[in-house]
Amino acid sequence: MAVLDGGVMVGKTKMLARELLSASVIQDRVKSLAAEIATVYLQKGELHTITVLNGSLHFSSALRLAIAEKQPALGESMTSDTIHLASYHGTGSSGRVRKISDLNHPITGKHVLVLEDIIDTGKTLSVLVAELRIQQPASLAVASLLRKPEKLMVDKSELSEEIFVGFDIGPEFVIGYGLDYDGLYRDLSAIYALSPMTK
Ligand code: 5GP
Ligand code: MG
Repeated sequence: MAVLDGGVMVGKTKMLARELLSASVIQDRVKSLAAEIATVYLQKGELHTITVLNGSLHFSSALRLAIAEKQPALGESMTSDTIHLASYHGTGSSGRVRKISDLNHPITGKHVLVLEDIIDTGKTLSVLVAELRIQQPASLAVASLLRKPEKLMVDKSELSEEIFVGFDIGPEFVIGYGLDYDGLYRDLSAIYALSPMTK
Protein backbone atom coordinates (compact mmCIF):
# COMPACT_ATOMS: atom_id res chain seq x y z
CA MET A 1 0.00 0.00 0.00
CA ALA A 2 1.34 3.42 -0.94
CA VAL A 3 1.83 6.03 1.76
CA LEU A 4 -1.42 7.72 2.93
CA ASP A 5 -3.63 5.38 0.86
CA GLY A 6 -5.90 4.99 3.84
CA GLY A 7 -6.60 8.74 3.95
CA VAL A 8 -5.72 11.36 6.55
CA MET A 9 -7.72 12.41 9.61
CA VAL A 10 -8.27 16.17 9.70
CA GLY A 11 -9.97 16.69 13.05
CA LYS A 12 -12.86 14.22 12.92
CA THR A 13 -13.07 14.16 9.11
CA LYS A 14 -11.28 11.60 6.99
CA MET A 15 -9.68 13.26 3.96
CA LEU A 16 -8.36 11.78 0.75
CA ALA A 17 -4.65 12.41 0.16
CA ARG A 18 -3.81 12.65 -3.55
CA GLU A 19 -0.17 12.82 -4.65
CA LEU A 20 0.21 16.22 -6.28
CA LEU A 21 4.00 16.41 -6.71
CA SER A 22 6.21 13.34 -6.54
CA ALA A 23 9.55 13.35 -4.74
CA SER A 24 11.49 13.28 -8.03
CA VAL A 25 9.43 16.12 -9.55
CA ILE A 26 10.14 18.23 -6.45
CA GLN A 27 13.87 17.39 -6.48
CA ASP A 28 14.19 18.29 -10.19
CA ARG A 29 12.38 21.60 -9.72
CA VAL A 30 14.44 22.51 -6.64
CA LYS A 31 17.59 21.94 -8.73
CA SER A 32 16.40 24.10 -11.63
CA LEU A 33 15.25 26.81 -9.22
CA ALA A 34 18.67 26.66 -7.53
CA ALA A 35 20.38 27.17 -10.90
CA GLU A 36 18.18 30.20 -11.61
CA ILE A 37 18.87 31.70 -8.17
CA ALA A 38 22.62 30.92 -8.29
CA THR A 39 22.97 32.87 -11.56
CA VAL A 40 21.21 35.93 -10.11
CA TYR A 41 23.19 35.96 -6.85
CA LEU A 42 26.54 35.23 -8.45
CA GLN A 43 26.06 38.57 -10.20
CA LYS A 44 25.12 40.28 -6.95
CA GLY A 45 28.26 38.74 -5.39
CA GLU A 46 26.65 37.32 -2.22
CA LEU A 47 23.61 35.56 -0.81
CA HIS A 48 22.15 35.63 2.70
CA THR A 49 19.17 33.31 3.14
CA ILE A 50 16.43 33.52 5.76
CA THR A 51 14.64 30.21 6.27
CA VAL A 52 11.10 30.60 7.56
CA LEU A 53 10.58 27.74 10.01
CA ASN A 54 9.13 25.19 10.22
CA GLY A 55 7.54 24.67 6.84
CA SER A 56 10.49 25.49 4.59
CA LEU A 57 13.03 23.35 6.44
CA HIS A 58 13.36 20.67 3.74
CA PHE A 59 13.03 23.12 0.85
CA SER A 60 15.65 25.43 2.32
CA SER A 61 18.14 22.66 2.95
CA ALA A 62 17.79 21.11 -0.53
CA LEU A 63 17.84 24.49 -2.26
CA ARG A 64 20.91 25.85 -0.45
CA LEU A 65 22.90 22.67 -1.06
CA ALA A 66 21.95 22.79 -4.75
CA ILE A 67 22.88 26.50 -5.06
CA ALA A 68 26.31 25.87 -3.49
CA GLU A 69 26.85 22.85 -5.70
CA LYS A 70 25.85 24.77 -8.84
CA GLN A 71 28.02 27.81 -8.07
CA PRO A 72 30.83 26.83 -5.64
CA ALA A 73 32.20 30.40 -5.64
CA LEU A 74 28.87 31.66 -4.33
CA GLY A 75 28.53 28.65 -2.02
CA GLU A 76 31.75 29.61 -0.22
CA SER A 77 30.36 32.99 0.83
CA MET A 78 26.71 32.09 1.46
CA THR A 79 25.32 32.85 4.91
CA SER A 80 22.01 31.87 6.47
CA ASP A 81 19.63 32.64 9.29
CA THR A 82 16.23 31.40 10.44
CA ILE A 83 13.04 32.96 11.73
CA HIS A 84 10.20 30.94 13.21
CA LEU A 85 6.71 32.20 12.41
CA ALA A 86 3.32 30.61 12.98
CA SER A 87 0.20 31.79 11.22
CA TYR A 88 -1.82 28.72 10.48
CA HIS A 89 -4.33 26.79 12.52
CA GLY A 90 -5.83 23.60 11.08
CA THR A 91 -6.42 23.96 7.35
CA GLY A 92 -7.42 27.65 7.27
CA SER A 93 -5.24 30.78 7.45
CA SER A 94 -5.64 32.65 10.73
CA GLY A 95 -4.46 35.90 9.14
CA ARG A 96 -2.42 36.54 12.28
CA VAL A 97 1.31 36.05 12.36
CA ARG A 98 3.02 35.00 15.57
CA LYS A 99 6.82 35.18 15.90
CA ILE A 100 8.19 32.23 17.84
CA SER A 101 11.88 33.06 17.35
CA ASP A 102 13.67 35.93 15.64
CA LEU A 103 16.70 36.38 13.37
CA ASN A 104 20.16 36.19 14.89
CA HIS A 105 22.00 38.42 12.39
CA PRO A 106 21.33 41.95 11.06
CA ILE A 107 20.51 42.14 7.33
CA THR A 108 21.38 45.77 6.62
CA GLY A 109 23.23 46.04 3.29
CA LYS A 110 22.90 42.31 2.55
CA HIS A 111 21.40 40.56 -0.47
CA VAL A 112 18.61 38.67 1.27
CA LEU A 113 16.56 35.76 -0.02
CA VAL A 114 13.64 34.62 2.15
CA LEU A 115 12.91 30.90 1.81
CA GLU A 116 9.23 30.01 2.26
CA ASP A 117 7.30 26.77 1.91
CA ILE A 118 4.11 28.24 0.47
CA ILE A 119 2.46 31.54 -0.38
CA ASP A 120 -1.24 31.11 0.33
CA THR A 121 -3.00 34.41 1.09
CA GLY A 122 0.43 36.08 1.20
CA LYS A 123 -0.34 37.69 4.57
CA THR A 124 2.51 36.02 6.45
CA LEU A 125 5.06 36.97 3.84
CA SER A 126 3.83 40.58 3.56
CA VAL A 127 4.20 41.04 7.33
CA LEU A 128 7.69 39.54 7.27
CA VAL A 129 8.80 41.53 4.21
CA ALA A 130 7.59 44.82 5.76
CA GLU A 131 9.57 44.05 8.91
CA LEU A 132 12.73 43.09 6.99
CA ARG A 133 12.60 46.22 4.80
CA ILE A 134 13.04 48.41 7.89
CA GLN A 135 16.61 47.07 8.19
CA GLN A 136 17.39 48.21 4.62
CA PRO A 137 18.90 45.12 3.00
CA ALA A 138 20.76 45.72 -0.29
CA SER A 139 18.04 43.62 -1.97
CA LEU A 140 15.15 41.50 -0.76
CA ALA A 141 13.69 38.59 -2.71
CA VAL A 142 11.65 35.49 -1.90
CA ALA A 143 11.86 31.88 -3.03
CA SER A 144 8.74 29.85 -2.28
CA LEU A 145 8.40 26.18 -3.12
CA LEU A 146 4.65 26.55 -3.67
CA ARG A 147 2.22 29.35 -4.42
CA LYS A 148 -1.60 29.38 -4.58
CA PRO A 149 -2.33 32.22 -7.05
CA GLU A 150 -6.13 31.92 -6.59
CA LYS A 151 -5.88 32.64 -2.88
CA LEU A 152 -3.51 35.62 -2.93
CA MET A 153 -4.99 38.49 -0.89
CA VAL A 154 -2.17 41.04 -0.82
CA ASP A 155 -0.62 43.22 -3.50
CA LYS A 156 2.41 41.70 -5.26
CA SER A 157 4.49 44.76 -4.31
CA GLU A 158 4.12 43.70 -0.65
CA LEU A 159 5.87 40.41 -1.38
CA SER A 160 9.38 41.75 -2.14
CA GLU A 161 11.08 42.84 -5.34
CA GLU A 162 11.48 39.42 -6.92
CA ILE A 163 9.74 36.09 -6.28
CA PHE A 164 11.10 32.70 -7.35
CA VAL A 165 8.36 30.06 -7.29
CA GLY A 166 8.74 26.29 -7.52
CA PHE A 167 5.15 25.36 -8.42
CA ASP A 168 1.87 27.22 -8.76
CA ILE A 169 -0.88 24.99 -7.36
CA GLY A 170 -4.65 25.11 -6.82
CA PRO A 171 -6.36 26.28 -3.63
CA GLU A 172 -6.44 22.90 -1.87
CA PHE A 173 -4.66 22.22 1.42
CA VAL A 174 -1.36 20.36 0.94
CA ILE A 175 0.94 18.32 3.17
CA GLY A 176 4.41 16.84 2.85
CA TYR A 177 7.95 18.08 2.12
CA GLY A 178 7.89 20.34 5.18
CA LEU A 179 4.19 21.18 5.14
CA ASP A 180 2.22 19.80 8.07
CA TYR A 181 -1.27 19.23 9.28
CA ASP A 182 -1.25 19.76 13.02
CA GLY A 183 2.45 18.91 13.28
CA LEU A 184 2.16 15.71 11.22
CA TYR A 185 3.28 14.69 7.70
CA ARG A 186 6.22 17.14 7.37
CA ASP A 187 8.66 14.39 6.51
CA LEU A 188 6.91 12.89 3.51
CA SER A 189 9.14 13.32 0.46
CA ALA A 190 6.20 13.98 -1.89
CA ILE A 191 3.43 16.60 -1.63
CA TYR A 192 -0.20 15.53 -1.24
CA ALA A 193 -3.42 17.51 -1.68
CA LEU A 194 -6.21 16.82 0.81
CA SER A 195 -9.86 16.63 -0.27
CA PRO A 196 -13.02 15.26 1.36
CA MET A 197 -13.56 11.52 0.86
CA THR A 198 -16.61 10.76 -1.28
CA LYS A 199 -18.56 7.74 -0.10
P1 5GP B 1 -0.45 32.80 4.15
O1 5GP B 1 -0.13 33.84 5.20
O2 5GP B 1 0.24 33.05 2.83
O3 5GP B 1 -1.94 32.65 3.98
O4 5GP B 1 0.00 31.41 4.69
C1 5GP B 1 1.26 31.24 5.07
C2 5GP B 1 1.55 30.01 5.88
O5 5GP B 1 0.42 29.17 6.08
C3 5GP B 1 2.53 29.17 5.11
O6 5GP B 1 3.85 29.60 5.31
C4 5GP B 1 2.25 27.80 5.66
O7 5GP B 1 2.98 27.60 6.83
C5 5GP B 1 0.76 27.82 5.93
N1 5GP B 1 0.00 27.24 4.81
C6 5GP B 1 -0.63 27.88 3.80
N2 5GP B 1 -1.22 27.02 2.95
C7 5GP B 1 -0.93 25.78 3.42
C8 5GP B 1 -1.23 24.45 2.96
O8 5GP B 1 -1.89 24.20 1.96
N3 5GP B 1 -0.72 23.43 3.71
C9 5GP B 1 -0.01 23.64 4.86
N4 5GP B 1 0.42 22.57 5.50
N5 5GP B 1 0.31 24.87 5.31
C10 5GP B 1 -0.16 25.92 4.60
MG1 MG C 1 5.70 29.11 5.80
